[in-house]
Amino acid sequence: MKITGIETAVLGSAVDAASLPAQVGARELEISSVVVKVHTDEGITGLGESFYRSEENNRFLAESVEALGRHVIGKDPQNVRNIWHELYLHVKRAGAYGALSAIDEALWDIVGKNAGLPVYQLLGGQAGEVNAYATFPVDKTAEELTEYADWLSAKGFEAMKIGAGFGVEKDRRRIKTILEGSPDDFGLAIDANTSYNITDARAVAKTGSDYEIEWFEEPIAHTDIQGQAELNGSVDIPISGYQTHTPHYPALDHLKANALDIYQPSLDYVGGITGAMRVATLVEAFNKELVPHALGPAINYAASLHVAAASRQCELIEFAVLDDDVDDPGRYIAGPYVENQDAIHVQDGGRIDPPNEPGLGVTIDEDIFEEYRVE
Ligand SMILES: [Mg+2]
Repeated sequence: MKITGIETAVLGSAVDAASLPAQVGARELEISSVVVKVHTDEGITGLGESFYRSEENNRFLAESVEALGRHVIGKDPQNVRNIWHELYLHVKRAGAYGALSAIDEALWDIVGKNAGLPVYQLLGGQAGEVNAYATFPVDKTAEELTEYADWLSAKGFEAMKIGAGFGVEKDRRRIKTILEGSPDDFGLAIDANTSYNITDARAVAKTGSDYEIEWFEEPIAHTDIQGQAELNGSVDIPISGYQTHTPHYPALDHLKANALDIYQPSLDYVGGITGAMRVATLVEAFNKELVPHALGPAINYAASLHVAAASRQCELIEFAVLDDDVDDPGRYIAGPYVENQDAIHVQDGGRIDPPNEPGLGVTIDEDIFEEYRVE
Protein backbone atom coordinates (compact mmCIF):
# COMPACT_ATOMS: atom_id res chain seq x y z
CA MET A 1 0.00 0.00 0.00
CA LYS A 2 1.21 3.51 -0.77
CA ILE A 3 0.18 6.98 0.34
CA THR A 4 -0.95 8.95 -2.69
CA GLY A 5 -1.97 12.26 -1.16
CA ILE A 6 -2.71 14.32 1.93
CA GLU A 7 -5.64 16.68 2.15
CA THR A 8 -6.51 19.14 4.91
CA ALA A 9 -9.63 21.04 5.87
CA VAL A 10 -10.08 23.77 8.48
CA LEU A 11 -13.45 23.40 10.17
CA GLY A 12 -15.37 25.99 12.14
CA SER A 13 -16.52 25.26 15.67
CA ALA A 14 -19.88 23.55 16.19
CA VAL A 15 -20.13 24.74 19.78
CA ASP A 16 -19.93 28.14 21.40
CA ALA A 17 -16.51 29.24 22.56
CA ALA A 18 -15.73 28.33 26.15
CA SER A 19 -13.70 30.39 28.58
CA LEU A 20 -10.62 29.04 30.25
CA PRO A 21 -8.52 30.75 32.90
CA ALA A 22 -4.97 31.59 31.97
CA GLN A 23 -2.14 33.78 33.15
CA VAL A 24 -3.66 36.75 31.40
CA GLY A 25 -7.26 36.25 32.39
CA ALA A 26 -9.96 34.31 30.61
CA ARG A 27 -9.11 32.94 27.19
CA GLU A 28 -11.61 31.87 24.60
CA LEU A 29 -11.39 28.30 23.40
CA GLU A 30 -12.96 27.24 20.12
CA ILE A 31 -13.31 23.62 19.04
CA SER A 32 -12.34 24.57 15.50
CA SER A 33 -10.10 21.89 14.01
CA VAL A 34 -7.93 20.74 11.14
CA VAL A 35 -9.00 17.42 9.67
CA VAL A 36 -6.39 15.48 7.74
CA LYS A 37 -7.29 12.90 5.11
CA VAL A 38 -4.46 10.58 4.08
CA HIS A 39 -5.30 8.83 0.80
CA THR A 40 -3.84 5.55 -0.39
CA ASP A 41 -3.60 3.66 -3.68
CA GLU A 42 -5.87 0.95 -2.24
CA GLY A 43 -8.79 3.30 -1.74
CA ILE A 44 -8.48 3.47 2.05
CA THR A 45 -8.50 6.98 3.50
CA GLY A 46 -7.19 7.64 7.00
CA LEU A 47 -8.55 10.43 9.19
CA GLY A 48 -6.61 12.47 11.73
CA GLU A 49 -7.23 15.74 13.49
CA SER A 50 -5.53 18.42 15.51
CA PHE A 51 -6.42 21.91 16.64
CA TYR A 52 -4.82 25.13 17.80
CA ARG A 53 -7.81 26.75 19.47
CA SER A 54 -8.93 29.21 16.81
CA GLU A 55 -9.75 29.19 13.11
CA GLU A 56 -6.94 31.60 12.40
CA ASN A 57 -4.34 29.40 14.10
CA ASN A 58 -5.77 26.37 12.36
CA ARG A 59 -5.06 27.84 8.95
CA PHE A 60 -1.37 27.78 9.88
CA LEU A 61 -1.72 24.28 11.29
CA ALA A 62 -3.21 23.09 7.99
CA GLU A 63 -0.25 24.56 6.13
CA SER A 64 2.17 22.76 8.42
CA VAL A 65 0.33 19.47 7.83
CA GLU A 66 0.69 19.97 4.10
CA ALA A 67 4.38 20.86 4.44
CA LEU A 68 5.10 17.85 6.63
CA GLY A 69 2.82 15.59 4.60
CA ARG A 70 5.04 15.93 1.54
CA HIS A 71 7.45 13.55 3.25
CA VAL A 72 4.99 10.66 3.43
CA ILE A 73 3.82 10.56 -0.18
CA GLY A 74 4.77 7.23 -1.73
CA LYS A 75 5.40 5.56 1.64
CA ASP A 76 3.59 2.50 3.00
CA PRO A 77 1.24 3.91 5.69
CA GLN A 78 1.54 0.67 7.65
CA ASN A 79 5.12 1.56 8.65
CA VAL A 80 3.72 3.89 11.28
CA ARG A 81 6.74 3.98 13.60
CA ASN A 82 9.27 4.63 10.86
CA ILE A 83 7.14 7.39 9.39
CA TRP A 84 6.65 8.90 12.87
CA HIS A 85 10.41 9.04 13.36
CA GLU A 86 11.11 10.49 9.96
CA LEU A 87 8.55 13.24 10.56
CA TYR A 88 9.92 13.79 14.08
CA LEU A 89 13.33 14.65 12.59
CA HIS A 90 11.64 17.60 10.88
CA VAL A 91 9.31 18.49 13.74
CA LYS A 92 11.95 18.60 16.48
CA ARG A 93 13.63 21.41 14.56
CA ALA A 94 10.65 23.20 13.11
CA GLY A 95 7.81 22.58 15.57
CA ALA A 96 4.47 21.44 14.12
CA TYR A 97 3.71 18.74 16.67
CA GLY A 98 0.04 19.19 15.84
CA ALA A 99 0.78 18.22 12.23
CA LEU A 100 2.78 15.16 13.27
CA SER A 101 -0.04 14.13 15.61
CA ALA A 102 -2.81 14.41 13.03
CA ILE A 103 -0.84 12.50 10.39
CA ASP A 104 0.00 9.77 12.92
CA GLU A 105 -3.68 9.35 13.82
CA ALA A 106 -4.56 9.03 10.13
CA LEU A 107 -1.91 6.33 9.63
CA TRP A 108 -3.31 4.26 12.52
CA ASP A 109 -6.79 4.74 11.03
CA ILE A 110 -5.54 3.29 7.73
CA VAL A 111 -3.84 0.34 9.43
CA GLY A 112 -7.02 -0.45 11.35
CA LYS A 113 -9.30 -0.12 8.35
CA ASN A 114 -6.99 -2.35 6.31
CA ALA A 115 -6.91 -4.98 9.06
CA GLY A 116 -10.62 -4.68 9.80
CA LEU A 117 -9.83 -3.96 13.46
CA PRO A 118 -10.45 -1.00 15.75
CA VAL A 119 -7.23 0.77 16.73
CA TYR A 120 -7.42 -0.25 20.39
CA GLN A 121 -7.15 -3.87 19.29
CA LEU A 122 -4.06 -3.09 17.22
CA LEU A 123 -2.60 -1.53 20.37
CA GLY A 124 -3.04 -4.75 22.33
CA GLY A 125 -6.73 -4.72 23.20
CA GLN A 126 -8.85 -3.28 25.95
CA ALA A 127 -6.78 -3.15 29.14
CA GLY A 128 -9.59 -2.19 31.51
CA GLU A 129 -12.62 -0.03 32.01
CA VAL A 130 -12.29 3.72 31.40
CA ASN A 131 -14.60 6.24 33.00
CA ALA A 132 -15.05 9.88 32.09
CA TYR A 133 -14.63 12.93 34.23
CA ALA A 134 -16.34 16.13 33.20
CA THR A 135 -14.42 19.22 32.22
CA PHE A 136 -16.82 22.07 32.48
CA PRO A 137 -15.11 24.94 30.71
CA VAL A 138 -17.83 27.44 31.22
CA ASP A 139 -17.69 30.64 33.22
CA LYS A 140 -19.72 29.95 36.35
CA THR A 141 -19.68 31.00 39.95
CA ALA A 142 -18.83 28.40 42.59
CA GLU A 143 -22.48 28.36 43.67
CA GLU A 144 -23.62 27.64 40.13
CA LEU A 145 -20.99 24.95 39.70
CA THR A 146 -22.26 23.28 42.85
CA GLU A 147 -25.67 22.94 41.25
CA TYR A 148 -24.14 21.43 38.12
CA ALA A 149 -22.23 18.92 40.29
CA ASP A 150 -25.53 17.17 41.05
CA TRP A 151 -26.38 16.98 37.34
CA LEU A 152 -22.96 15.59 36.38
CA SER A 153 -22.83 13.19 39.29
CA ALA A 154 -26.27 11.79 38.43
CA LYS A 155 -24.99 10.97 34.94
CA GLY A 156 -22.14 8.97 36.46
CA PHE A 157 -19.18 11.29 35.99
CA GLU A 158 -16.72 10.58 38.80
CA ALA A 159 -15.57 14.13 39.07
CA MET A 160 -15.75 17.62 37.66
CA LYS A 161 -12.72 19.67 36.66
CA ILE A 162 -12.84 23.43 36.95
CA GLY A 163 -10.49 26.24 36.11
CA ALA A 164 -8.22 27.58 38.84
CA GLY A 165 -5.50 30.21 38.85
CA PHE A 166 -7.83 33.06 39.82
CA GLY A 167 -5.71 33.90 42.87
CA VAL A 168 -5.17 31.96 46.09
CA GLU A 169 -8.14 33.25 48.07
CA LYS A 170 -10.64 32.91 45.24
CA ASP A 171 -9.44 29.41 44.35
CA ARG A 172 -9.66 28.36 48.01
CA ARG A 173 -13.20 29.70 48.29
CA ARG A 174 -14.27 27.91 45.14
CA ILE A 175 -12.84 24.58 46.33
CA LYS A 176 -14.61 24.87 49.69
CA THR A 177 -17.95 26.00 48.27
CA ILE A 178 -18.10 23.32 45.59
CA LEU A 179 -16.97 20.40 47.72
CA GLU A 180 -19.14 21.34 50.67
CA GLY A 181 -22.16 21.53 48.36
CA SER A 182 -21.51 18.53 46.07
CA PRO A 183 -22.63 14.89 46.43
CA ASP A 184 -20.29 13.01 48.79
CA ASP A 185 -18.84 10.63 46.25
CA PHE A 186 -18.34 13.28 43.55
CA GLY A 187 -14.79 14.51 43.10
CA LEU A 188 -13.35 17.88 42.15
CA ALA A 189 -10.17 18.53 40.18
CA ILE A 190 -8.69 21.95 39.52
CA ASP A 191 -6.61 23.13 36.58
CA ALA A 192 -4.50 26.29 36.80
CA ASN A 193 -3.08 26.02 33.27
CA THR A 194 0.39 26.98 34.62
CA SER A 195 -0.88 30.21 36.17
CA TYR A 196 0.86 30.07 39.56
CA ASN A 197 4.29 30.52 41.03
CA ILE A 198 5.26 27.84 43.50
CA THR A 199 4.37 29.82 46.63
CA ASP A 200 0.79 30.42 45.53
CA ALA A 201 0.49 26.93 44.08
CA ARG A 202 1.53 25.48 47.44
CA ALA A 203 -1.10 27.54 49.25
CA VAL A 204 -3.89 26.38 46.91
CA ALA A 205 -2.61 22.80 47.01
CA LYS A 206 -2.76 22.81 50.81
CA THR A 207 -6.46 23.70 50.74
CA GLY A 208 -6.91 21.13 47.99
CA SER A 209 -5.33 18.53 50.27
CA ASP A 210 -7.55 19.49 53.20
CA TYR A 211 -10.60 19.04 50.99
CA GLU A 212 -9.21 15.94 49.24
CA ILE A 213 -9.57 17.19 45.69
CA GLU A 214 -8.78 14.63 42.98
CA TRP A 215 -5.78 16.41 41.51
CA PHE A 216 -4.18 19.80 40.91
CA GLU A 217 -3.44 20.15 37.21
CA GLU A 218 -0.63 22.27 35.76
CA PRO A 219 -0.13 24.40 38.88
CA ILE A 220 3.16 25.94 37.72
CA ALA A 221 5.24 26.20 34.55
CA HIS A 222 5.56 23.01 32.53
CA THR A 223 9.33 23.49 32.49
CA ASP A 224 9.74 23.65 36.29
CA ILE A 225 10.34 19.99 37.04
CA GLN A 226 11.98 20.71 40.39
CA GLY A 227 9.06 22.86 41.52
CA GLN A 228 6.55 20.22 40.49
CA ALA A 229 8.53 17.56 42.37
CA GLU A 230 8.60 19.75 45.47
CA LEU A 231 4.84 20.28 45.31
CA ASN A 232 4.12 16.65 44.50
CA GLY A 233 6.15 15.52 47.48
CA SER A 234 4.74 18.01 49.96
CA VAL A 235 0.98 17.67 49.46
CA ASP A 236 -1.33 14.66 49.64
CA ILE A 237 -3.12 15.35 46.36
CA PRO A 238 -1.68 14.31 42.98
CA ILE A 239 -0.02 16.98 40.86
CA SER A 240 -0.82 16.40 37.18
CA GLY A 241 0.17 17.61 33.71
CA TYR A 242 1.25 18.58 31.10
CA GLN A 243 -0.87 18.83 27.99
CA THR A 244 1.87 20.80 26.22
CA HIS A 245 4.61 18.19 26.60
CA THR A 246 6.01 17.06 23.27
CA PRO A 247 6.57 14.31 22.36
CA HIS A 248 6.90 11.47 24.93
CA TYR A 249 10.48 12.22 26.04
CA PRO A 250 9.66 14.91 28.69
CA ALA A 251 7.58 12.32 30.56
CA LEU A 252 10.77 10.44 31.43
CA ASP A 253 12.39 13.48 33.06
CA HIS A 254 9.24 14.12 35.10
CA LEU A 255 8.93 10.47 36.09
CA LYS A 256 12.55 10.27 37.22
CA ALA A 257 12.06 13.41 39.34
CA ASN A 258 8.74 12.11 40.76
CA ALA A 259 7.35 15.47 39.62
CA LEU A 260 3.83 14.27 38.76
CA ASP A 261 1.47 11.50 39.84
CA ILE A 262 -0.87 11.84 36.85
CA TYR A 263 0.30 12.23 33.24
CA GLN A 264 -1.97 13.98 30.75
CA PRO A 265 -0.65 13.75 27.20
CA SER A 266 -2.80 15.42 24.58
CA LEU A 267 -3.09 13.28 21.46
CA ASP A 268 -3.42 16.25 19.13
CA TYR A 269 -0.04 17.52 20.24
CA VAL A 270 2.09 14.78 21.86
CA GLY A 271 2.69 12.99 18.57
CA GLY A 272 -0.66 11.29 18.03
CA ILE A 273 -1.39 7.71 19.01
CA THR A 274 2.27 6.71 18.73
CA GLY A 275 3.42 9.50 21.05
CA ALA A 276 0.65 8.94 23.61
CA MET A 277 1.18 5.15 23.77
CA ARG A 278 4.85 5.79 24.50
CA VAL A 279 3.92 8.09 27.38
CA ALA A 280 1.61 5.29 28.57
CA THR A 281 4.45 2.77 28.52
CA LEU A 282 6.75 5.07 30.50
CA VAL A 283 4.00 5.81 33.00
CA GLU A 284 3.38 2.08 33.46
CA ALA A 285 7.05 1.49 34.22
CA PHE A 286 6.91 4.04 37.05
CA ASN A 287 3.46 2.90 38.25
CA LYS A 288 1.84 6.30 37.79
CA GLU A 289 -1.54 7.17 36.27
CA LEU A 290 -2.47 8.19 32.74
CA VAL A 291 -5.47 10.50 32.32
CA PRO A 292 -5.32 11.81 28.74
CA HIS A 293 -6.01 15.46 28.07
CA ALA A 294 -8.87 15.26 25.59
CA LEU A 295 -10.78 18.46 25.23
CA GLY A 296 -10.73 18.45 21.51
CA PRO A 297 -12.68 17.65 18.39
CA ALA A 298 -14.32 14.36 17.44
CA ILE A 299 -11.75 12.48 15.35
CA ASN A 300 -8.97 13.34 17.78
CA TYR A 301 -11.25 12.46 20.67
CA ALA A 302 -11.95 9.02 19.16
CA ALA A 303 -8.19 8.46 18.84
CA SER A 304 -7.80 9.44 22.51
CA LEU A 305 -10.39 6.83 23.51
CA HIS A 306 -8.48 4.07 21.71
CA VAL A 307 -5.29 4.97 23.60
CA ALA A 308 -7.14 5.18 26.91
CA ALA A 309 -8.76 1.78 26.38
CA ALA A 310 -5.45 0.13 25.52
CA SER A 311 -3.42 1.62 28.39
CA ARG A 312 -3.08 -0.38 31.60
CA GLN A 313 -2.52 2.76 33.69
CA CYS A 314 -5.58 4.58 32.38
CA GLU A 315 -8.90 4.42 34.21
CA LEU A 316 -10.09 7.94 33.51
CA ILE A 317 -10.32 10.31 30.56
CA GLU A 318 -11.42 13.90 30.12
CA PHE A 319 -14.81 14.60 28.56
CA ALA A 320 -15.79 18.20 27.88
CA VAL A 321 -19.36 19.10 28.73
CA LEU A 322 -19.66 22.06 26.39
CA ASP A 323 -23.30 22.93 26.85
CA ASP A 324 -25.01 23.27 30.22
CA ASP A 325 -28.46 23.13 28.64
CA VAL A 326 -28.59 19.59 27.23
CA ASP A 327 -30.60 16.64 28.52
CA ASP A 328 -27.62 14.30 28.58
CA PRO A 329 -24.23 15.77 29.53
CA GLY A 330 -22.58 12.55 28.30
CA ARG A 331 -23.56 13.20 24.69
CA TYR A 332 -20.69 14.35 22.46
CA ILE A 333 -21.77 17.45 20.52
CA ALA A 334 -18.63 19.08 19.11
CA GLY A 335 -18.27 17.01 15.91
CA PRO A 336 -21.43 17.04 13.77
CA TYR A 337 -19.26 16.45 10.66
CA VAL A 338 -18.68 12.94 12.02
CA GLU A 339 -21.80 11.04 11.01
CA ASN A 340 -21.50 8.63 13.92
CA GLN A 341 -20.50 11.09 16.62
CA ASP A 342 -23.05 9.21 18.75
CA ALA A 343 -20.44 6.43 18.94
CA ILE A 344 -18.62 8.79 21.32
CA HIS A 345 -20.68 9.02 24.48
CA VAL A 346 -20.50 8.59 28.21
CA GLN A 347 -22.77 5.78 29.35
CA ASP A 348 -25.02 6.17 32.36
CA GLY A 349 -22.70 5.28 35.22
CA GLY A 350 -19.74 7.06 33.64
CA ARG A 351 -18.07 4.48 31.44
CA ILE A 352 -16.77 5.48 27.99
CA ASP A 353 -15.44 3.19 25.24
CA PRO A 354 -13.82 3.82 21.87
CA PRO A 355 -15.95 3.37 18.74
CA ASN A 356 -15.88 -0.33 17.86
CA GLU A 357 -15.50 -0.05 14.08
CA PRO A 358 -12.25 -0.59 12.10
CA GLY A 359 -9.60 2.10 12.48
CA LEU A 360 -10.56 5.05 14.65
CA GLY A 361 -14.17 4.04 14.02
CA VAL A 362 -15.49 7.41 12.88
CA THR A 363 -16.83 8.32 9.45
CA ILE A 364 -17.35 11.74 7.93
CA ASP A 365 -20.65 13.10 6.67
CA GLU A 366 -19.25 14.89 3.65
CA ASP A 367 -22.20 17.29 3.27
CA ILE A 368 -22.02 18.51 6.87
CA PHE A 369 -18.22 18.52 6.63
CA GLU A 370 -18.44 21.00 3.75
CA GLU A 371 -20.87 23.15 5.73
CA TYR A 372 -18.37 23.51 8.55
CA ARG A 373 -15.40 23.95 6.27
CA VAL A 374 -13.87 27.42 6.34
CA GLU A 375 -10.80 26.55 4.30
MG1 LIG B 1 -5.56 21.13 31.36
